[in-house]
Amino acid sequence: MSYIFSTKVGETDCQLEFTCVLYNTCEMVRVSVERIIRLLSGEYGKRRWRPRQSPIAVLIQTILSQNTSDRNSGRAFEQLLASFGSWEDMANASVGEISHSIKAGGLGEVKARYIKQALEEIRRRRRGFELDFLKQMSVDEARDWLKQLPGVGMKTASCVLLFSLGMPALPVDTHVFRVARRLRLIDSTVLVEKAHKLLEGLVPPQYVYQFHVLLIEHGRKTCKAQRPRCNECVLRGLCPSRKV
Ligand code: SF4
Repeated sequence: MSYIFSTKVGETDCQLEFTCVLYNTCEMVRVSVERIIRLLSGEYGKRRWRPRQSPIAVLIQTILSQNTSDRNSGRAFEQLLASFGSWEDMANASVGEISHSIKAGGLGEVKARYIKQALEEIRRRRRGFELDFLKQMSVDEARDWLKQLPGVGMKTASCVLLFSLGMPALPVDTHVFRVARRLRLIDSTVLVEKAHKLLEGLVPPQYVYQFHVLLIEHGRKTCKAQRPRCNECVLRGLCPSRKV
């Protein structure tokens, strides 16, 4: 099974008429996911999936990034790679040695323990660190496989599948969650764990990457947690939460 993101959203009219049903207390609202992507692409530029690093590298990087700034986790990942010659060496290192190497990013023992345990578990189950086999599974099967590793939840597993393997798994971070709720793509009572599956059900597979990265950008620049800039927002015409 392989997934390639090759949508032409933002360039031509898409033939896929995909609408999702939105609910609030007063009315049922229909919003086109395609239209959201087209508007955000026009605002921030087109986003196309490109292969990044190996699945194991994305996995370790994403564990490091949990509840930490990109800057800190990036520094920690660089230090980690510089400290160990291979994933095998990293798996064989002590928690203290791993912890010492990620100190530069302000990260400590909990993440070091997760990294060591995850690497050991992958080696035990696969006799190595190659995870490309996940691409042959469905998104749910592959995510379940990853979620059995220490320190890996829905978001981390989805990041590995989306960014490294190009599979249509939709990571829901704080920005995606907030913007999706304000657009009423998900109900305000839905918890973040459940939001992954609900949004994947709304977003056509070939748009998942764009949807993810564009909603993050929109959440950072416009639909901020405090004081969203509704007057400047390209989605204001279809957003039930806009503040006039
Ligand atoms: S109109 Fe306001 S609340 Fe709605 S998406 Fe735009 S910035 Fe967010």
